Amino acid sequence: MDKHSIGTKCVQGGYHPKNGEPRQVPIIQSTTFKYDTGEAMGKLFDLEASGYFYTRLQNPTSDTVAAKIAELEGGTAAMLTSSGMAATFLAVFNICEAGGHFISSSAIYGGTFNLFSVTFKKMGIDVTFVAPDASEEEINAAFRPNTKLIFGETIANPALKVLDIQKFAKIAHAHGVPLIIDNTFPTPVHCRPFEFGADIVTHATTKYMDGHGSAVGGAIVDSGNFDWMKYADKYPGLCTPDESYHGITYAERFGKEGAYITKATAQLMRDLGVTPAPMNAFLLNLGLESLHVRMKRHAENGLAVAKYLENHPKVAWVNYPGLESSPDYALTQKYMPDGTCGVVSFGVKGGREAASKFMEGLRIIAIETHVADARSCCLHPATTTHRQLSDAELVSCGVGPDLVRVSLGLEDSVDLIADIEQALANV
Ligand SMILES: *Cc1c(COP(=O)(O)O)cnc(C)c1O
Repeated sequence: MDKHSIGTKCVQGGYHPKNGEPRQVPIIQSTTFKYDTGEAMGKLFDLEASGYFYTRLQNPTSDTVAAKIAELEGGTAAMLTSSGMAATFLAVFNICEAGGHFISSSAIYGGTFNLFSVTFKKMGIDVTFVAPDASEEEINAAFRPNTKLIFGETIANPALKVLDIQKFAKIAHAHGVPLIIDNTFPTPVHCRPFEFGADIVTHATTKYMDGHGSAVGGAIVDSGNFDWMKYADKYPGLCTPDESYHGITYAERFGKEGAYITKATAQLMRDLGVTPAPMNAFLLNLGLESLHVRMKRHAENGLAVAKYLENHPKVAWVNYPGLESSPDYALTQKYMPDGTCGVVSFGVKGGREAASKFMEGLRIIAIETHVADARSCCLHPATTTHRQLSDAELVSCGVGPDLVRVSLGLEDSVDLIADIEQALANV
């Protein structure tokens, strides 16, 4: 499938049934798998043969869908996880253990920020945050001898900042560490970070990839480009024998293309069990089959609404990376020339109260803690996710009291704009 276009990969990637086999990806709803001899199963445990023995580690349905995501991103190996948070956790922890340090863009998902700054700290892992538009000198200054990776989001949720992936990749590689990119918002339909030097990509498949608000899930994809053995001292988990797996050295046995995902599966999935249900992998695949069609519509609706809001007298400001007035427009053109996503944030004149009143007036766009769904939804952080903060505190964390985040779904933009228009009229 590698030579095909992205839409064809969305529909048919990962699964190639043989004569008489099911056309649709089968749901292998089985925890375990049967073998004729103990020896045959032993070979699987030793990673000498590939196959399935227990769904906590690997399942054929999940692997088929992971293979499709690997094709979409242009990677060499991929795995699914039970959630986006699990994908981020495994992606970092696979190469950064207690005593390690990493650098992250400060413009990231709130849950990820908490994982990095609070939970990883409890595990003895330190993080330094840098602004997404930090200079090369500032990023260089954040490096320590024990720095293992850099992390960022292509389009940050909810700040909607676009990351200069090529710049971050260049700096990471100059220091001999990989760049991990959370590519949830644009999806590989609109941006493929490996083409700009990123080494590993993560996804909250919960968002656009599933796209229907049906199944929480995550994915990790390896580009197969990072040469772990070249920095063997820095990545002992990949480059020295794993005593818990019969002395296998992952980077030797599986090479650049397979070591990272094999270790994350054999060690971290085995021990942490953040496994997706086969049924959820199937639902994710249904979403992926239309991802290229849906992303186009989400981005068109996002741009149409952003442009409408920009000219509305009751709107103080609009943040959408696809707007020509966005400070990130040049980055958007470089990394996502075909479109971005359906999430727009804006300020309603009149602050907290006006924003609340606006949202209560909406009829099609529903109030939800969610984004990237087929159905349009919105959130007012000041009265929900961030309600414990004062107006001054809200401003200091970049989420002003007037901020409304809207996620434009797949409805017709005329109806979405009409809904916004009547709700603003009441403010
Ligand atoms: C939602 C989200 C996550 C977390 O995903 P879950 O599936 O909710 O665990 C991570 N990163 C980004 C950018 C997200 O939007």
